Order: sequence, then C-alpha cells, then structure tokens
Amino acid sequence: MGSTFGAAAMAVDNDKLGAAPLVIAATCLLALAISVHLIKQFFANTKCKKPCYLITEPKPQYKFKRVLADNSYSQFKHLKLHAEDSVIEEEYSDLHPYKGEISSLMKNANVEILELFEGCEKWSLEMGGEYVWVEEEAQLREVAEELSNEKVFAVDTEQHGLRSFLGFTALIQISTMSKDYLIDTIILHDVMGLLRPVFANPGICKVFHGAHNDILWLQRDFHIYVVNLFDTAKACDILSKPQKSLAYLLETYCSVATNKLLQREDWRQRPLSEEMIQYARVDAHYLLYIAYRLCTELKQLKNENSSPGDKFHFLLEASRRSNATCLQLFAKDVESCTGELAASSIISRCLNDPGNISPSLCDDKFQELVRQLCVWRDLMARLHDESLRFVLSDNAIITLAAKIPTTETDIYSNMLEADSDVESVTMVPLQTPSPVVCSHLDDLLCLLRGRITNLDDILQMCIREHLGPGGSCPLSAYNYALLSKTTLGTSNRITPNHNGFRASKQVAKMASRQLFVQKFSCKSPVYHNCKIYANDGRLLCYCDQRKLQWYLNRDLAKLVEEDPPSIMLLFEPKGRPEDEDNDFYIQSKKNICVGCGEGNHYLRYRIIPSCYRIHFPEHLKSHRSHDIVLLCVDCHEIAHTAAEKYKKQVAAEFGIPLFIRRVADLDKTQNTPASSSTASCEEVGVSPLQLRIAAMALLRHGPRMPSQRREELMQTVMTYYGGREISDEDLEKALLVGMSPHERRRFEKKRGYVFKHLGKGNNSIDAEEDDIAGKPSVTVKNASNDEDEEDSLHTNMTDAYQQQDYDNILDEAETSTQHSSPNIRENTSPSSADADDAASDTKMVSAAGSISISDNDETSGSGNLSNGVTSPLEDKDVSLKHDSKMSLLGHGPHGKQVVEYLLRERGEDGVREFCQRWRHVFVDALHPRFLPGGWDVKHRI
Ligand code: AMP
Ligand code: MN
Ligand code: ZN
Repeated sequence: MGSTFGAAAMAVDNDKLGAAPLVIAATCLLALAISVHLIKQFFANTKCKKPCYLITEPKPQYKFKRVLADNSYSQFKHLKLHAEDSVIEEEYSDLHPYKGEISSLMKNANVEILELFEGCEKWSLEMGGEYVWVEEEAQLREVAEELSNEKVFAVDTEQHGLRSFLGFTALIQISTMSKDYLIDTIILHDVMGLLRPVFANPGICKVFHGAHNDILWLQRDFHIYVVNLFDTAKACDILSKPQKSLAYLLETYCSVATNKLLQREDWRQRPLSEEMIQYARVDAHYLLYIAYRLCTELKQLKNENSSPGDKFHFLLEASRRSNATCLQLFAKDVESCTGELAASSIISRCLNDPGNISPSLCDDKFQELVRQLCVWRDLMARLHDESLRFVLSDNAIITLAAKIPTTETDIYSNMLEADSDVESVTMVPLQTPSPVVCSHLDDLLCLLRGRITNLDDILQMCIREHLGPGGSCPLSAYNYALLSKTTLGTSNRITPNHNGFRASKQVAKMASRQLFVQKFSCKSPVYHNCKIYANDGRLLCYCDQRKLQWYLNRDLAKLVEEDPPSIMLLFEPKGRPEDEDNDFYIQSKKNICVGCGEGNHYLRYRIIPSCYRIHFPEHLKSHRSHDIVLLCVDCHEIAHTAAEKYKKQVAAEFGIPLFIRRVADLDKTQNTPASSSTASCEEVGVSPLQLRIAAMALLRHGPRMPSQRREELMQTVMTYYGGREISDEDLEKALLVGMSPHERRRFEKKRGYVFKHLGKGNNSIDAEEDDIAGKPSVTVKNASNDEDEEDSLHTNMTDAYQQQDYDNILDEAETSTQHSSPNIRENTSPSSADADDAASDTKMVSAAGSISISDNDETSGSGNLSNGVTSPLEDKDVSLKHDSKMSLLGHGPHGKQVVEYLLRERGEDGVREFCQRWRHVFVDALHPRFLPGGWDVKHRI
C-alpha cells in the first residue's frame, strides 16, 4: 500500500510535467493490482488443488479387499445361510443366521459346563514366553483346525476406532489350555472367515469377558457369529461380585496386574510393542482359569441356596445370559438426516450448559451452522474412513459456529483454541486441525462464508467434489457405495456409468422415490388441530378445518377461538372423552412421520390393512385416527413391507390364500378356504394387483415393449388363466378383474383407456366379479414375489403406490357408505360429493344433537356424526356396496374371508385381537419414536 501512495503522490507532484508520467504511473498501479490479484488467484488455486492427505498417507484398511460394513447409508447385511428352502433364505436375511442354534442352547444349556475346564485346576497359571503370532493364511488354517478339536477356548479382540468411521478389528487373541494365538486381523482381514465354523460350532464353548462389543465387531468385520458363549462378566453379575472388570478378576484369581490404559493404544501399529503383546495375551490367557473358578462358585451357589427340587440353576443362568448376548445383531446407526444426531446433541449441550458458550450466542444462525458443520463432518468422515472426532471435534464445531471465522488463519487459531484441552483424552495423538480439515479447508470456508446453506447441497457438493469424476479423494471399499447409493436428487453431474459404477439403477430408484414423495405425500398439513368443545367448555376432540366448517355452516356450533380455530357445539354430544377412558383423542397431533419425526413430507399409513378393515362390522371401524398414522416414504416402505410379509403369515395361519387364479376346472377347488389346508396356498396364482398392472401395460404398450419384459408380463396374465394362450380380449378381461362397473367407468375416465375388444354389453365383467368373490372357480396362491434386493425399493414403491391407489378408491367407497357428513375427499367427483352431502343432510335432520366423539378422525376426513339409527334403505345400501368393494382390494377375497372367519370363530374379540396383532407388526417393524401419547397397541374399539 505504501508504494501505491508513493506512486500517487509522485504523480501529483509531477502533474505539471505533463500527462505522460501519469499514464506511466497509472499503468504501474494497474500492473501491480493485476499481479496481486494473480498471486491471490495462484494461491487460491493451489489451495483448491491441495491434494487430499490420503493420497500420500494410505490407510491400512484400504488394503482390505472385502469390506462387509462400508460407510454408506445402506444397512449392514448379515450372513445368509443356505437353507434348503430358498424362500426362507430370502426372507430372513436380517435375522441372526444362528438364531435356532443359540435359542436351543439357551433352552437346553450344558449342565456339565464344569467338565469343559477339566485340567484347569492343575494348569500352571504362569504365562510362558511362548505365543503364536498368526499372520499367514496357512497359519490361520492351522489355527482353525486346532481349535476345532478343542472343547473350549478363550477369546478377546482389540479394535481401532480413531482412524476409521465404524472401527475395525485389529487383533484377535485366542487362548487354549496349551497355546496363546495372536491373530493379525489387519493382514488376514479378507480370510478371517476361516474361523467362522469354530465360532459357530455349538459344541465348542467360547469364553469371553464382557462379550457385548466383541460379538458385534466380529459380525461387522468377518461375519463371524459366536454360538455357545460363556461370558465371565455375566457370571460376575450372577455371583454379585463387587466388581466385574477383567482387571479385578485377574487380580483376585491370578494375582496378575494389568494396565487397562493399553486398550486405548493404536492397535494398528506393527510390530506391536512388547508391552502391548503382553497386555493382549493377558486379556485372553487367564480367561479359561477364571471361567473355571467362576463356574465352581456358581455351582456352589446352587448347592447352598437351593432346596431339593429347586429348578433354578446358577450355572445354567450364566450360560443362558451369555448366549443371549450372542443373539445381538450388528447394525449401522442410520439417521434420517446425516449428522443430525450429533448436531442435536451439540446444540442441546450448548443450551443446557452455559459453561460452553453463552446462551445468547446459541441463536438460530449458530444452530444452523452447527447442523451444516455436522453434515459436513459426517460425510467427510465417511469419505475418508475416519472417526467423527478425528475429522472435527465437537468443541471445534461449537467454536466455529459461534465465531464464524472466514479466513484460513482464523479458522486454524479457533480450532487450536477449541481443542487445547482435549488432547489428553486419547493415547493416539489428535492432530489439530486434522489433515481432513487442512486438505479440504475450502469446504469449510465455503460453509462459514455462507456460500452453501442447504444441508442437501452440502452433501451433494462433497460427494461431487471429492468422490465424483475427477474428485479430490481416493475411492475405497469404504466410500465406493456412497457415490452410487447416496441421495443425489436430480444432480446430473455424476454420469451414471462413470468408472463403471452401476449408478443408473440407483438413479432410477431415487427418481422413483421422488416421484412417490411428490405424488403421494400430503399436500398440506393433515392435522389442523382445530378444537371442538362441548357446550360446557370441555374439549371433545381435534379435527380439521372442513369438519369445523361443516358444523358452522349448519349453525350447529359457534366459533370460540380464531387460532387455531375452535368451535363450541350448540347441542349435547352423545359421548364424552371421559367415557372413553382414553385421552388419545383429546390431544393435538403433530404433522410429522411417527416413525422418525420427518416433517418435510409424510403420507397416511393404514396400520390395519384396508383389505381386512373394510370388512369389519361397522361399529368396529371407528377409531380410524388411532390406526391411521403419518409416515415418511422411507418409514412407509418399511411398514408396508412388514405388513405385506405379515399378510402372508396370516394367509398361512388361517389357510386363506392371498392370490387368485381363474381356473376352468371347477371341481378342483371345492373346499372352503377357512378349512382348507395350507396346501391350497401353494397353488399357482397371481395377485389381482399384479394382474391388473400386467394387463394394463400389455394393452397400452405391448407392441413397443422389449420382448423380454413383454414375455414376463404375459406370463403373469397366463398364470391367471391357468397357463393357456391369451387373446387381447383376455387381457381386457384381466384388466377388469375385480372392477365394479362404476370403477370401470372411473378407470376409463382417469386412465383414458377405451375397451376395444370386449363386446358392448358384455357381461364378462360381472362374471369376473363372481370369480373373484370367492366362488369355487377361484383358486388362490400364497406366492412370494420377492424381488431382487436391489430392486426392492423401486418395486415396493410401485407396490405401495398401487396399494395406496386402491386404498384411496376404497376410502371413497367407504366414506360414501358411512354417509360421513362433511365430505372432504379430495378425489371425489363433484357429483358424488353432492350426493354425499345430500345424504348427510338428510341424516343430519334426524341426527341433530348427537355426536359420536369416538369417531373423530382427522386422517380419513370421514365425518363423525352418527345417529345410532340406520334406516332400512341405508342398510341395504351398505351391504350392496360391501360386495362391490371387496373386489377393489389388493387381495381379492382373502380379506373378506379372514374377517368372516374371525367373526365366526372368535366373534368381535377376534377382530379386536386381530387389530392388536397388526399394531404389533407395525411397532415391531418400525419402532416408531413419535407416536402420539396415548397411542396403544391394546387400544380398544
Ligand atoms: P479390551 O479387550 O478391554 O482391551 O478392549 C477392547 C477394545 O475396546 C480396545 O482395543 C479398544 O479399541 C476398545 N476400548 C475399550 N475400552 C476403551 C476405552 N476406555 N477407550 C478407548 N477404547 C476402548
Ligand atoms: Mn483386550
Ligand atoms: Zn479427501
């Protein structure tokens, strides 16, 4: 700057000398400015081009050829065992592969467990200098062979967590009574499966101390599952030992001191230090002797405390509790929004602990920045396979979000300050700022300068810049799937076939998901949380605006509050919430996914599938708001898949098949479904839904379709017709399966399809309806249509979509049969809406003064007025609609027959129990965390 002023001053001084020097000076100035700019550019560029630290610092785990748990967002896949029945293999892949073995061990535990440790009492406790370092495949084979001849062996594992996103096993220590093995699980990572059989062998007891983590780590890294465990920590629990740490047991039983600080060492290092080798050996070597001593005590405990004939056996209890640990399954933490959990915890820490940061600083902007930094940290940790704390400490995030430094120097000094007191926590020195931050500082600058604020954009930017074509960071087995499987929206910057990634399928999947969200998520909040008060001021229920308006328009209520709108009824309602003994209906409900809390999109989900519910007796159909909840598409898919699976179970249990087939040979299927054996469930058939989809596609696009696809669809339709050749007329008939004439008209209008091949006045539609209504000409099949796993999202979406379509049609039918007063179905055509209104009006005249609060149902939008009196005409109407309704459903006669069976065999209690079962299915599948208070599996109708 000094020189600039100098030049300017000189120019002024020399003004009288003429214009030339001025021009020269100005030129100099310009040149200077340009060069400064260029230098800046140069530095900016070199910073951009700063190579990722991983290019020069390869990680040991990058040598692994096979990684079971990568850093993508897809859930961990457990080992699938080849059962004779391939269907079982498909369906139960997420169950424990050795569940059966472990459960049977828990039921019939080995009472003679003490015999396993025969020789232990005489066994010299001294740990000699000899141990076996296993680092070659051949050696590992030998170990496996030797272990297979043992009755019992002891195990411990060491893992490394700091420089890895999920952590990995770095060492396994195995001790028999004669040898200590130290297995280098880094070098042998890809062949560790050799030990699977001995670990899964129920005839060999494995002794661990505090096996919880080891069990999960062995599954995560090697698909090794422990069957037959004796956990010395569980034995300590039962014996009520004052402490249950291994250090305590070593001290007490073996007089060995151990320095547990060594567990925090960097177990990746090779060779391991003498001290670490000693530590590792000690952890496994004495376990057999300790187990022997504990078992002896457990046995004595039994003798002292049990009366003759006492069933309780402490040894058995220890074994049972140990094996229960083995049933755990490793699972990745899957968040709906990456980094969300960490962000919430940091924010709540700041809000609750003013020691960290003054609450006034904890404003919206701060919180938003914390969220952004957490997303970035999470993704960078996944990309580089580092732990979160290695990338950026929580403290650093807090400081950055509070101070918002926007230059490199400021960022660095803030981080150093933030991390000044955390260094001591780990043995592995933490670098501040981390190499991730140093080599990708541009990202942070970008965030802190507010260039990118949308969380989704951060995700996309990171993947694009770092992993995408020409990205800055190395691809690995850990981050590879992030590129192909991450939600990238419509970003086209990643070319589908780059580097041979099979991204196109994923792109299709994402597109399908988006389409689904667009098409089916609720367009406006479902719960308006308008209130209805009784005339004495008691809150009766919440409802939506339209229902409110309905009462107001008829002068049946007056508006008492504006926001949210609330009305007071001018007549005495039939029931009160206290009659219900359930405050579920008198709480406001959040417009979020009850599964994960997602609030950006949601759709209605019916917990009790409509194919059953539609056939319930009318008075058991109320309480819809309890059993219709909001779910985001991801949770919706999980719940839907579980429900479809459970339908198959119901089909098998009741012997009432799900799928249909038109059979010419009538006398083949004379048995009534409820009494028929499950054998009839196995017969070949097709779901009405798939039949319709196939027929539709063939009729509309048949000639233009790839021949393979056409062949597949034809097969579906042919299955329905019992395998015979089919004509275009057959296709049209198939399309009309289960459609009422009304539905056919609707369908023709909506899809714009004109039936060309069916003759005018052709009654085949009715004939088809007869077929499907459970007449003898229908055979059915409980088929499994499990799709290729990769396609499951897509197909299930389509499936759910279709189901939803059906459900919506169904709701319309239902709404009209129930004569729900305020007609608010979005899709109802004006004429039918009018008709409904008219019906309601008539009803209202007689119904004035009676309201059934139990039927408050914001989700369905069906009205809640009931007069308790049904005219004969209405009755007839209802039954008529019932028959036609059944055919609209995804499973033809199945639902109707199941409900009839329940009512016949168990009465209405049967139906209530059936509802509870579906609520269980829902809860078990989703573990919903945001269900409204008062929601209950046991909810009574
Ligand atoms: P251990 O069998 O007790 O040596 O622990 C097994 C593994 O657990 C170690 O290799 C560490 O990765 C991890 N671990 C256990 N305790 C700690 C701790 N306090 N801090 C860090 N890591 C630990
Ligand atoms: Mn250990
Ligand atoms: Zn990088």
